[in-house]
Amino acid sequence: MSKSVLDRLEADYPQIPAVVRLKAALLFYGLKDSEEQVKVLVEAGDWAFPNFMPHHLAPSFPAYRGKRQVPFPYLLRLADDTQVRLRLKTDSPFVLKQLDGQAYPTFAETEGDLVSSLAWTEQFQEAPLHTQVEGFPYALYEEDRFITTLSFEPKLAWSASLTADGTPFKATGLSQHGDMMVLNPAPGCEYFVAPFGHEKKNLSCQFCLYGLPDQRMTSLGQRLFEAELPQENLNRICEACAHPETHAQHLYLVSGSMVDMAEEGRRFVQLAQALNTAGLTERYYVACGSGAIPKEAMLKMKALGVKGACFNLEVWDPAQFKRVCPGKDKFVGRERWLQALEEAVEVFGEGNVMTAFVGGAELDGDGAFSDPDEALASNLEGAEFLLSKRIQPIYSLHWKMTGKQRGLEPIYSLDHFLKLNQGLAEARQRHGLAINPDFFCRRCAYMQLEPDYDYWLKQESPNTEGQA
Ligand code: SF4
Repeated sequence: MSKSVLDRLEADYPQIPAVVRLKAALLFYGLKDSEEQVKVLVEAGDWAFPNFMPHHLAPSFPAYRGKRQVPFPYLLRLADDTQVRLRLKTDSPFVLKQLDGQAYPTFAETEGDLVSSLAWTEQFQEAPLHTQVEGFPYALYEEDRFITTLSFEPKLAWSASLTADGTPFKATGLSQHGDMMVLNPAPGCEYFVAPFGHEKKNLSCQFCLYGLPDQRMTSLGQRLFEAELPQENLNRICEACAHPETHAQHLYLVSGSMVDMAEEGRRFVQLAQALNTAGLTERYYVACGSGAIPKEAMLKMKALGVKGACFNLEVWDPAQFKRVCPGKDKFVGRERWLQALEEAVEVFGEGNVMTAFVGGAELDGDGAFSDPDEALASNLEGAEFLLSKRIQPIYSLHWKMTGKQRGLEPIYSLDHFLKLNQGLAEARQRHGLAINPDFFCRRCAYMQLEPDYDYWLKQESPNTEGQA
């Protein structure tokens, strides 16, 4: 009989904290895509913080209160505060069950039994609104083995509130991952329609769907190739972030990229100015998730109370960076990107500068690395360089959402992700630079392992202050 996933990981990676192995396995496999599982998740969708994409019920399912597109929980939360982005996959060994939930037969089990089948359908169609059960009312199993109890991140009061002019808070560009609010008031990325002589070309990063210019821009008042954010939306943003019950400690500012970094710098300074005036740079650890903006803009942001910066390089290897991120390569260039990160360390200080990578993007598509070991060596070499400059690299697991092969994973394996994270943790330790939890912590890292690693390693050896 083949070993369970968690048993195999324990045998192969005893040095990795157990909860980190579990989080990696959940990120990689998700929960099993089954009728029973979907039912549990759809019901929790009444009260959990929703994924930004609604779930489309399979044709075999009854509509849920007349709807076929329904909200679905975005984030799992374990009792020890570990947070994991939720996905469904057909080959997952992981199943979530409601501890006190009434078990209804599945459609397959009710085949030929009209009475039970109708009861199931009615119960699903006419369900009363489910409300959050306090604590951790779900049990996670790997096949038949109980693993732990958990819950979902709930919707918070702010997300259902309206601004004074009647705009829903969540329509101001705000989202939330645990205790991090992410503010994207200008989501359209100019690299999707980059000027190229007399034409426009799509030079977006290969893995990205998020920055596609679409109707979100209209409601936010964003205009491509214009840095200014409408004052009325800035007012709404400040009103939303000032809500007393955001339960957030970090506020991360992002936007679609501009082809002119000086203009992008102006946009972020404008945003920081509005937050500063509203006293919000005092309340939150505000970080700038822009492109490689000029140092002058960084200095202005620092003076306005912004505390950290994260300029995402996405891919380390120079040839892969050019291939995967053609817009960043053409309009900024890798050398300038690295220079901007070093300038950010001068401005914001050690521990307050990160750069994020999409782990696996360098292994995907025409011209990709063909050998995962080559990709691993390249990324770890990059980590050495960046940490020596006091820049913190962080890696999210690449979920393939674009192209013909989308959804066909793995691009790289769970083992590759764990080896990379083990190498990163060892590099942080060698360089004496742990993840700064004021900037990025276990309550907000929903697709990365670095803060979990550093937290759990510190619990094991509490006398390693300042180290991973
Ligand atoms: S810069 Fe790249 S990752 Fe960022 S929004 Fe544009 S295309 Fe997407």
